[in-house]
Amino acid sequence: MRQKIVAGNWKMNNDLKESLKLISEVANMVTDEVNNDAVIIVAVPFTNIYALDQWKSGSEVHDKVKLAAQNCSWEESGAYTGEVSARMLKSIGADYVILGHSERRQYFAETNAQLAKKVDLALTHELIPIFCIGETLSEREKGIHFEVIKGQLKEGLFHLIKSVFRTVVIAYEPVWAIGTGLTATPEQAQEVHAYIRQLIAEGYDEETAESMSILYGGSANPSNASALFSQTDIDGGLIGGASLKSRDFTDIIKTFNA
Ligand code: PEP
Repeated sequence: MRQKIVAGNWKMNNDLKESLKLISEVANMVTDEVNNDAVIIVAVPFTNIYALDQWKSGSEVHDKVKLAAQNCSWEESGAYTGEVSARMLKSIGADYVILGHSERRQYFAETNAQLAKKVDLALTHELIPIFCIGETLSEREKGIHFEVIKGQLKEGLFHLIKSVFRTVVIAYEPVWAIGTGLTATPEQAQEVHAYIRQLIAEGYDEETAESMSILYGGSANPSNASALFSQTDIDGGLIGGASLKSRDFTDIIKTFNA
């Protein structure tokens, strides 16, 4: 069985006090209302990871809710002012790291080659990458979205040996659906997820393809989550805006309740 995952991406939102408030609200709701075994991840600003990990260690959701960073350096250490390394993130309680988010690709010009190096360092330090791929609106309109996704996957991840590759989480996030209120239809999302799984089967093997969790991201919310997550090849979501509201985020997680 593939692991179900709901990951919230808080982006550059929430100072420390706000972060502690939001995580405790989510923790309370999850404890009271969630009865499924989906892994819950919150990807929070660097500055809040340590405090949230400390808070979590005394809470009931200690094992259920995991922390993620939203980026890491492609270098191990050294004279890279302003950067944060994978090793540092692991040491303060992160278990996952989002890599290749479209906002990083767009605003910080991150390339697939750089992302491949980040993936390697994350894995070296036992951080699980949540590797984001997805096409822009113009790429979809030109009909080249499958090619774009293939390139991102091959250049960013396919250098990994199979046993390591299998530990990665993939998130398909059509750029035109992120923060726009436009969601891919369940059929559009399923079509791409199935294609991603097919590429994995070709690059590795069928069993590996079947074992990988592939998340959908892009304006997912409590109203559309169920239709998206019930698609054969969609194993959960990477949630931006709706993860900033404890009620909405919990309702999305509850989509997996029996
Ligand atoms: C995201 O930032 O990964 C995302 C999916 O954002 P939103 O849900 O707000 O579209």
